[in-house]
Amino acid sequence: MKEKPVVIIGAGPAGLAAGYELTGRGICPIILERGDIVGGISRTESYKGFNFDIGGHRFLTKNDEINQLWENMLGPDFLKVNRLSRIYYQGKFFNYPLRPANALLNLGPVESLLVLISYCRTRLSPRPEESSFEEWIVNRFGERLYRTFFKTYTEKVWGIPCNEIRADWAAQRIKGLSLLVAVSNALFGGQQAKSLSEQFSYPKLGPGMMWQRFMERIVAGGGEVMFHSEVSAVHHDNSRITAIEYSNGETSGKLRAEHYISSMPISRLVQLFQPQPPAEVLESAGQLVYRDFIIVVLIIDKQRLFPDQWLYVHSPKVRVGRIQNFKNWSSYMVPDQSRTSIGMEYFCNENDQTWKMTDNELVAMATGEMEEMGFAPASKVIDSYVVRQSHAYPVYDATYKQNLQAIRNYLENYNNLQTIGRSGMHRYNNMDHSMQTGILAAKNCCGEHNDLWAVNEEKSYLEEERAAKDVPLVPEKVLIGVFARMDKFAFAAAVGTVCGLLVFCATMWIISRGGDVLNSHLRLLGQYFIGYTVTVKGGFIAFGYSFFWGFLFGWLFAYLRNLFLAIYIYRIKRKVELLSLKDFFDSF
Ligand SMILES: Cc1cc2nc3c(=O)[nH]c(=O)nc-3n(C[C@H](O)[C@H](O)[C@H](O)COP(=O)(O)OP(=O)(O)OC[C@H]3O[C@@H](n4cnc5c(N)ncnc54)[C@H](O)[C@@H]3O)c2cc1C
Repeated sequence: MKEKPVVIIGAGPAGLAAGYELTGRGICPIILERGDIVGGISRTESYKGFNFDIGGHRFLTKNDEINQLWENMLGPDFLKVNRLSRIYYQGKFFNYPLRPANALLNLGPVESLLVLISYCRTRLSPRPEESSFEEWIVNRFGERLYRTFFKTYTEKVWGIPCNEIRADWAAQRIKGLSLLVAVSNALFGGQQAKSLSEQFSYPKLGPGMMWQRFMERIVAGGGEVMFHSEVSAVHHDNSRITAIEYSNGETSGKLRAEHYISSMPISRLVQLFQPQPPAEVLESAGQLVYRDFIIVVLIIDKQRLFPDQWLYVHSPKVRVGRIQNFKNWSSYMVPDQSRTSIGMEYFCNENDQTWKMTDNELVAMATGEMEEMGFAPASKVIDSYVVRQSHAYPVYDATYKQNLQAIRNYLENYNNLQTIGRSGMHRYNNMDHSMQTGILAAKNCCGEHNDLWAVNEEKSYLEEERAAKDVPLVPEKVLIGVFARMDKFAFAAAVGTVCGLLVFCATMWIISRGGDVLNSHLRLLGQYFIGYTVTVKGGFIAFGYSFFWGFLFGWLFAYLRNLFLAIYIYRIKRKVELLSLKDFFDSF
């Protein structure tokens, strides 16, 4: 039995961030990692010098502390990459967000017309309810565009029909840019385009390089990372964790600590408790669902396949969901620039048909699909590598909230245990949020009282935050005032009255001055206002005429202003919806 001040489970971004924070405070933790490298899902694997991520990992954050930490850790090795990622559909590359000219060109005139007709039909009679992802999209883009671009990919990712994906889940994911941000951008120009053209950071040798540096700092600070050490039991006395057991299959060990921090899947964690938790907690743990992931890396004897960092594959003809082209993330990811390594990504469930395919079968499928998509003949595939990643995505299904709450309630009994990270909290945390929870947990071990569950609770999308940062936000009240609909009648009456009064007063003023000064000029009004003379009676006649024309002008002005404003706002709204969807797809 070893004694340590803090035991951390998992050497992913969350566990490493916790370890780094602790060593910075003079506490030497031990990190137990069941794998053989650091980084968790954000690790970089290497095969014959070809580096690859488990799905491409962009470093993007709104948190300055994390950003600074990343920058300090890698310095010049932290590259800035200009994003290019498109949709691959029916042999064509579509820009995303969709651009009308590009979509028209790719779809052809007939299909574009059908898309337009379908769109108009939906706008005229939208689906009465928006309770599913399908309904949300159809109401905004029309049935045909939904089937073309959204249905297949979303179903590939989640493995369930779009009409079974709940709207509230979709709404949470599709919050995206607020209209406020978009309008502010439109008014102040330029900046949004910059932030949405998206430059992201990426370590020269892949994300693993970042995590390797973290580990080196932890070890240099007196901490320890133990690989091949899978936690196999968590001992407790109902109010505190008393020890943790780990094993590498052959040997095992036991650790005792003052504090325990866990980034392993929360459901698995409670299942390892000894004595066992109450049955209802175990039942909840059993019901938390994850989506899993396979990446088939193909090394192709071809210098250039496509310029994108990744492609979304919306085509229903192939099973692959996304394709990474690692040398477009960083040229250092491949040892030989005359070759290209791509990652064919398959979303699946652990132990389903795809998961159970042998490596050879997976490589054959990926090679066939790559050839079918026209990137290279199968004969050009010179090597391959397969990685299966379980617990890649925490699934937000109908019952996850109550199941998670039941587990959280139970774990709250243990005052020396904290759960952190993505699977550790069953939350859609990216690397930055995962690290944030790790850092806060470490601070809590030193006496602070941070609420880890408050991190990323109201997920506001990276893009929104970044756009908002770049743009001076117009206060909502001002926008509401500027964009309020004009009351046509009131405005017309006001303009009419002002015009009438002006001419009436001018007439009265000239009369009061003896009628000589401007008499000759004002008299000319009689050519337009039949019956007008520079007299009191004429003043009333002129008021009537001027009111009429002023009213007409005012009404027309207000009508056109409302119309142009409606078109303008509609265009911004469409843009926001498209951008929000980009976030939606990006976040898988
Ligand atoms: C396909 C894909 C693409 C992504 N792209 C991005 C992106 O572009 N940008 C971004 O910021 N985020 C991205 N993410 C999210 C990112 O991968 C996670 O946020 C991050 O890895 C979570 O870190 P973590 O430390 O919480 O968990 P993990 O990375 O899951 O690490 C947990 C660690 O615990 C270990 N472990 C588990 N069980 C045990 C046990 N019993 N004993 C010992 N060790 C154990 C695991 O081996 C693992 O190393 C992506 C995720 C996926 C799936």
